[in-house]
Amino acid sequence: MLTPLEIERLSEEFETKTPQEIITWAVDTFWPQIALSSSFQTQSMPLLYMASRIRRDILILFLDTGYHFWETLIFREQIASEWQLNVLDLYRDSRWDSFARRQTRALPFEDPNLCCFMHKVQPMQKAMKDMLAWISGIRRDQTSVRAQAKILELQEDGLIKINPLLNWTKDDVKRYMEEHHLPSHPLLEKGYRSIGCSPCTIAIGVNDDERAGRWSGRGKIECGLHTEMFTHKDVSEVKNDFHLDVSSVENNGK
Ligand code: SF4
Repeated sequence: MLTPLEIERLSEEFETKTPQEIITWAVDTFWPQIALSSSFQTQSMPLLYMASRIRRDILILFLDTGYHFWETLIFREQIASEWQLNVLDLYRDSRWDSFARRQTRALPFEDPNLCCFMHKVQPMQKAMKDMLAWISGIRRDQTSVRAQAKILELQEDGLIKINPLLNWTKDDVKRYMEEHHLPSHPLLEKGYRSIGCSPCTIAIGVNDDERAGRWSGRGKIECGLHTEMFTHKDVSEVKNDFHLDVSSVENNGK
């Protein structure tokens, strides 16, 4: 096990390493208790491509929220099949089902924090329970929250988050995709430069920030996977972030 000091030192050392070197270190260090998360959008392609070439059977987690564009689900199937990826789809805990079904259409608009918590944060927390390390594709140039991230981040429960692409820019992504002839999500050409769930993603202009189309006009820039929300494992610890009353399912989604 690495100490917090060793993780801090390695994280600084990795600032000058390539994503491939960081992924190779992570796989060698934590295998088999390591997984990579991917939303299977255009920007996800470099990390998926690199990691699957370093270790073909690396576990890839896809959050199937039930709100994805049909194009995303088809693209995910196509890439997983062509690249022979080991993809596991994650779903919300069934204990939310009756609550969520009553609000299916309204939930992403009325309470996006709660919607992201039950469809993204909690399923990922559950998937990470038996893991030592989680590789994510976030970059510092994406949001103000991500700008503060480190390449290695030790969470309170001992999970180590690894962000190999943190120092990449959108131009690095574009260049790598061109060099390796990687496929793009079919909605990219229609102006969807960052793609999440359908109710929370709009097409944007060429000069807009890459993530300007995510939760546009709703004062939200992160789903919670890469914020403090991820460290809260009990509904009661985060219910103040929600608009809707979750008392009927409180402590029910652990
Ligand atoms: S991105 Fe939107 S639809 Fe998807 S989980 Fe979050 S709030 Fe719900």
